[in-house]
Amino acid sequence: MKLSEHFTLEELSFSEVAARLGLDNTPGPIVITNLGLTAGVMERIRTLLGGKAIPVHSGYRSPQVNQAVGGVATSAHCFGLACDFVCTQFGTPYEVALDILKSDIEYDQLILEYGWVHVGLAQVGVLSRLESLTKRSLRAAYESGIRA
Ligand SMILES: [Zn+2]
Repeated sequence: MKLSEHFTLEELSFSEVAARLGLDNTPGPIVITNLGLTAGVMERIRTLLGGKAIPVHSGYRSPQVNQAVGGVATSAHCFGLACDFVCTQFGTPYEVALDILKSDIEYDQLILEYGWVHVGLAQVGVLSRLESLTKRSLRAAYESGIRA
């Protein structure tokens, strides 16, 4: 099912971990609505990055899947309000994050992770924090800003 011109429900709710561990990662109706908002922001990012393909690493994560990947319980991924992705045709995750940072795209959290970019949206009706962070490795603490 298409959520937007270039993003489908299937890719935004696919989880390799869920498939591997046999966990359910089927989004419910509220999550599907949220994934539609996420897809809308991802379209804006796609346009910003010159219309290049954006492979999605992770979108929705059910509570079980989130726990299996060691994600924080309050993760925006659990609400369908986050997307981890790369855009290698455009540049490195750092270059991608920097371009999003400089744009007027509204996000709650923009995180330059170790190998991908995380964009999280605020819950409906909640003000976006426009927080940007860098995380250099699995165990590293979050640093403020997008850092090379
Ligand atoms: Zn993420």
